[in-house]
Amino acid sequence: MASQQSVEPFDLVIFGGTGDLAVRKLLPALFHRFLDGQIPPNSRIVGVAREGLDDTGYRAQLREALVQICDAAKLDEFLQQVFYRALDARKDAGWDDFAALIKAEPEHVRVFYLSTSPELFVDLCGRLGQHGLNLGQSRVVLEKPIGHDLASANRINDAVGKVFSESQTFRIDHYLGKETVQNLLVLRFGNALFEPLWNSAHIDHVQISVAETVGVGHRAGYYEHAGALRDMVQNHMLQLLCMVAMEPPSSLAPDAVRDEKLKVLHSLKAIDAGNAAQLTVRGQYRAGVAEGDHVLGYQEELGGSKTGTETFVALKAEIANWRWAGVPFYLRTGKRMPDRVSEIVVTFKPVPHSIFDAGSGTLAQNRLVLRLQPDEGVKLWLTIKHPGPGGLRLRHVPLDMSFAEAFGVQQPDAYERLLLDVVRGNPTLFMRRDEVEAAWRWAGPILAAWAASGEAPRSYAAGSWGPSASVALIERDGRTWHDDNE
Ligand code: NAP
Repeated sequence: MASQQSVEPFDLVIFGGTGDLAVRKLLPALFHRFLDGQIPPNSRIVGVAREGLDDTGYRAQLREALVQICDAAKLDEFLQQVFYRALDARKDAGWDDFAALIKAEPEHVRVFYLSTSPELFVDLCGRLGQHGLNLGQSRVVLEKPIGHDLASANRINDAVGKVFSESQTFRIDHYLGKETVQNLLVLRFGNALFEPLWNSAHIDHVQISVAETVGVGHRAGYYEHAGALRDMVQNHMLQLLCMVAMEPPSSLAPDAVRDEKLKVLHSLKAIDAGNAAQLTVRGQYRAGVAEGDHVLGYQEELGGSKTGTETFVALKAEIANWRWAGVPFYLRTGKRMPDRVSEIVVTFKPVPHSIFDAGSGTLAQNRLVLRLQPDEGVKLWLTIKHPGPGGLRLRHVPLDMSFAEAFGVQQPDAYERLLLDVVRGNPTLFMRRDEVEAAWRWAGPILAAWAASGEAPRSYAAGSWGPSASVALIERDGRTWHDDNE
């Protein structure tokens, strides 16, 4: 069963309420929480954007998008709690009316979710401040990307910080809301089995992969200015790396966890012009076959423009501390890959000596695979004896736990968990300002090294696992990318 912890009545304002994220993720997540009885009846969800809609028009738009999820009667009940205000973040009109709506419920927890382009964060926070809306229990949620580099992240954080304190600021990274990621904490710190082995004496290497089958599609405008390093590595993948690598926090108190993650970020070895060519590979998809269809290359999707934006990155990161010295963390992410899969693979060292005959088969290394998507779960690959007579034959098999199968329920979407965490004021799974800055400090020199090299990203066919140089990156070290089907 999903968590049924109650929350106080709240107003949740979604700036960018007509946008893709709001309609595809945030409102369905809120609707699911409503179906589970977790949205108090007098709470309000307020969509805000420039489009000239009223409450009825907005509800009709959402109804069309949400109707597939459940029966219409429940949906209409939910939509009675949804409102809309039209305004422009950069213009005065509409703000007085919006402020009056919000101030009508002074006792409510209020959440301002900035689901717009980050260029608007400064304007939005400024106007929320001017209209005196940071009252009582208010929080602001910032969607990624927080800036384009360290300087722009600082500009946004400074502007937000003029209106909202750090404890009111929730920088969301939805990967941290995934069940598997929270399960990583429980596996590591709730079992006596793993933590004694969780270090360079026993772990050979770690792989973190986030592969998408889709291309950039309608997000091309945003993506062209971001690229895979900014879009995936600087935030989601570094956060996953931190969860794998951090020291045990003293508790799950927000700052206890975030202090430990920050130490990992500070311990990452620099990748810059001196070593980027050895430690990183960037690629860009060309036309190919993906999911059975012929698809365009990235540049063709952009109307044929020549561009050096990467749609694929593989890199080898290292953490310079006692626990992880000499253990590589291989990170790989790309669009137009053959499968949609996000996983963390922890590979243990081989046994020091084999007592088995060569004819028994090979001894494979143990692997712990934490799958974030598509089907959240955990697999522990072990060597066992093939059952039955006929001599001792070794088999490498997974202890496989799909959460959906094991618990007989579909896991809630990460946003369901995170949105209610914001209402409850629990920032444990959100990024603190210094984490975002440390991540940019590490990513910045990689971007600078690529820019200085003047080299174009390597081309790869859509529907492949990226440029061959990515295979070479890991095979040079005598290792291979994990393939769950092997
Ligand atoms: P989007 O589809 O382009 O939506 C943008 C929203 O902002 C629309 O509702 C738009 O409506 C509104 N807006 C634009 N200019 C405005 C202004 N001046 N004043 C008030 N509202 C304005 O973008 P999105 O994909 O939902 O993404 C939103 C944010 O989430 C971005 O920062 C994105 O990087 C991040 N994000 C998105 C996803 C995703 O899956 N989509 C995933 C992770 C993070 P009007 O044009 O009517 O004003």
